Amino acid sequence: MNYIDYSDWFDIDGFHAFFSKKQVDCSNIEKRKEFVESLSFDHNGLVMLKQVHSNQVRRVKNPGILESTDGVISNQKGIVLSVQVADCIPLFLVDQKTGYFGLIHSGWRGAAAGIGTKAIYQFQKTGSHTEDILALMGPSINQCCFEIGPQVSNRFDPYFYIKGTRDRKMFDLKGALKYQLTKSGLEVGNIMIDDACTYCQEELYFSFRRDGDKSGRMVAITGWR
Ligand SMILES: [Zn+2]
Repeated sequence: MNYIDYSDWFDIDGFHAFFSKKQVDCSNIEKRKEFVESLSFDHNGLVMLKQVHSNQVRRVKNPGILESTDGVISNQKGIVLSVQVADCIPLFLVDQKTGYFGLIHSGWRGAAAGIGTKAIYQFQKTGSHTEDILALMGPSINQCCFEIGPQVSNRFDPYFYIKGTRDRKMFDLKGALKYQLTKSGLEVGNIMIDDACTYCQEELYFSFRRDGDKSGRMVAITGWR
């Protein structure tokens, strides 16, 4: 299969979560719609984000393209959420009681700005109890490959990095985001992590760090059907 189906990880009747591998061409909107259709979703419900590495998380009722946004939540059955990544974390969220679901894009900038905390706050504003929320982090750059300089490492607790060469550090982005989720009240056992490293697994994933400006993107898709 040229994509990962995380639906069984959630095990919630009717809720689906997918992540494309590099074999899926999602280089433009039309291709992304084709991928969405291939997953038996209606592309007319698609929500896309103009991602800017912010901590902006919005609640949506309607399909369309959102400017300057890196996270989105909804409870609409016809809505299909999407984000694109290449090293950043695709974070899937769902409240198994209210049906609200979300998708977040987080690199170090989003994490430093607290996007995990902001996302859970958006759920709480809809009446969510945090013990009902399930989270899943998809493939992203792991500590083995995520070298950062002092200007970045200074923005995080030393707990989330280990020493690299000279003043460089190796950063655990998934760990930093997970901490925000647990601090917001999610149960540790409700946070699932795909340990795949996008930089290491060149045959499966694009990596912005590895491939540079010409890097493609993977697309995360989630919704009810
Ligand atoms: Zn790696």
